[in-house]
Amino acid sequence: MKPRTGVSACLAGQPVRPDGKDKHIHWLTQVLAREVTLIEVCPEMEMGLGVPRERIDFAAVHGNRRLVGLSSGRDLTDIANAANGRLLAQSATDLDGHIFKKNSASCGIVKGGMFARAFMARYPDLPAIEEDELKNESARANFLSRVRNCFAKRIG
Ligand code: SF4
Repeated sequence: MKPRTGVSACLAGQPVRPDGKDKHIHWLTQVLAREVTLIEVCPEMEMGLGVPRERIDFAAVHGNRRLVGLSSGRDLTDIANAANGRLLAQSATDLDGHIFKKNSASCGIVKGGMFARAFMARYPDLPAIEEDELKNESARANFLSRVRNCFAKRIG
């Protein structure tokens, strides 16, 4: 039995980007996956947006920060909230961390992506990291150590 971390599905090689491509980081699936079971999650696919799809981002609508389609202007905030709720309900309490795609209005931590924010609000004690930080050896070691600690606590 290994620790389990969520990972933005495009980073694990799934062709779920808006343009139908991936952002595969081979280190994740070929090295990290030896030690950690990766649970692939794409919030925008869970929203039912499909591939290919229009790009989405945040915009101010009547003074509120909303998630909208960049070409259609469609307000997707409520759909995202519902999808994120489903994903978090599925993950229940069997995750030990999460690796997020940076610069995404769904997955980015720094950008305040909706799924990343919902995940961190629901699981404030679980380690969460953007893929870029994993290039830094000490940040990677720290993340893995925290994942292992969470796993040890979870399985008792
Ligand atoms: S929503 Fe997240 S997992 Fe899906 S393509 Fe965008 S960054 Fe990748």
